[in-house]
Order: sequence, then C-alpha cells, then structure tokens
Amino acid sequence: MTTLARAFLPFSLILLAAASSAAELIPDKPHVCDACETWSQPREPFKVYGNTWYVGGGLSSILITSDQGHVLIDGGLPQTASTIAANIAKLGFRLEDVKYILNSHTHYDHAGGIASLQRASGAQVFASPASKLALEGGGPTREDPQFAFGPEHNNYPPVSGVQVVKDGEALRLGDIAVTAHFTPGHTPGGTSWTWASCERGKCLDVVYADSLNSVSAPGFKFSGDNTHKSRVASFEKSMDKVAKLECDILLTPHPEAWDMDAKVARLAADPKSRPFVDDQACKAYAAGARERLAKRVIEEKARQ
Ligand SMILES: [Zn+2]
Repeated sequence: MTTLARAFLPFSLILLAAASSAAELIPDKPHVCDACETWSQPREPFKVYGNTWYVGGGLSSILITSDQGHVLIDGGLPQTASTIAANIAKLGFRLEDVKYILNSHTHYDHAGGIASLQRASGAQVFASPASKLALEGGGPTREDPQFAFGPEHNNYPPVSGVQVVKDGEALRLGDIAVTAHFTPGHTPGGTSWTWASCERGKCLDVVYADSLNSVSAPGFKFSGDNTHKSRVASFEKSMDKVAKLECDILLTPHPEAWDMDAKVARLAADPKSRPFVDDQACKAYAAGARERLAKRVIEEKARQ
C-alpha cells in the first residue's frame, strides 16, 4: 500500500485490522428467562487448582489449560459467551487456543454460548451421541424431561459439526486428559467430565459433575407413564457413578451446587486454605440428588 493510500484508509478499518489478529467473539441473540439476568452477571475469573480455572459468570464455565491448547467446558447462556471470552483473556490466555469445547448438558443455560465460542475460537466440540443431537438441533430432544417447556423457552443457537465421544473415553490435548462419564437423567445425554490437575507436583482429581436434579416441564414423570419407561433406575445409576468417581475437587454447572461463593470468600480470607478440596463432595452431591429424586417419585405417585 502506498503512503498516499494509507493516508486515505479510514481509521475504523485500521482498527478492525488490528482487532482481527485476536479471536473476536460475535455473540448470538441473548436468551430471555427469569434467571437470565442473574446468570449472565460477569464475575472475576480465578484459579481453582493447577491448570483448572473458573471463567464463567453466574453459570459455571471451566478452562483447563496446557501449552498445546486449552479445553473449555460449558458455554453458559448466549449472552455469557462474551464474559467467558473476556475472562479467558483476563487470565492471559487466548480464546483461539481453546481447541476443545465440552458440555455438561444441553440446556440453554450451559449450551447457549457454545456456538459463538466455537465460531470465535475454531475449537472442536465433543459430546455424547444424545447431546450431539440436541446441540446440533439447537434445543433439547423429545426425550428430555424439559422438552415440553417448548422451543421459545428451550432453544439456543445450534452448534455445528459436533464430534461424538464414547462413555469412558479420554480426550487428550497436550498433557490434559479429560474423561467423559455419561450421567443421563437431568437430560438424556448428560455428561460428567474428570481430569487431573497438578500444582507443584501434587495432582488432584477434578470432577465437573453434571446437574443431577430431577427438574422437568409440567407433566413429565421420571417414574414413567404411557409415553416413556421409568428413568429412575438409570438416573440413580448416574448418581452412583458420580459418587464413585475419584474426586478431590467437585465443580458443577450451577455454582451454588458446589458452594462456590462461600469457597471463594474463604480463600480470600485465608489464602493458605484449600476450600475447593473436599474428597467427600462428590458423594454428598450424589446423595442429595438421590434424596430429591426419591421425593420427586413420591410426589409423582401421589399425582396419579
Ligand atoms: Zn439443565
């Protein structure tokens, strides 16, 4: 380009050229729901342990880093994708180094931001076969307990080219190995993810356990009816699976379920404390879910 031509290049174009060297996130239309404003509140990212970082807003998103690229689990709402991207940058990592995007379950509050994060990073998205169907369709499938809430409530930007993982398969990236554990119940394709994170030679088992809540749209029965068989035994199997995982640190899609705020506050008050480490947390999480499902089944029977 001649000096003369450069002189006439609009300033905005020069800015655009500079910005395009970093991955740019173009968010999708915000999802509207009662809790969406709370859920999309930005928050400071922080280190959970070793190469495991919290990069979400009011909904969990976890970044696992390596010098060969990073793994991101969960994309929040469509409108929280930009918070996630900003948090990754704040920690000094680059969105375009996110190579894999994984998902706990295919509801709008954990899968809504994946499409824009995938576009911006060029990452590959991996999911269970049932989750692939939902992600590519941009909403829960008919088998989902929340399907009857309807498309306006349920749907989110579809994700393209989702690759399938097998139950028990480990995805590797640099020195990261993240294993998929299918834990259906809250959704048909629900998946919990485990990996090891190390700090000064001490490695801990981290579990991102999927939601195990027996929440549904009105009319759905976990105990089964003439449209579908009982889901109780398979859901309990998922809970048992989570209870039995090697688990030093429990993380879950909704921060309240792992008491995140209280733990972050404890860490701030005493930087030497290790509030995230609790080898009984997965067992307690599964036991709570089992109790709620048992209560739910009693209510369903009473409704008949
Ligand atoms: Zn959900």
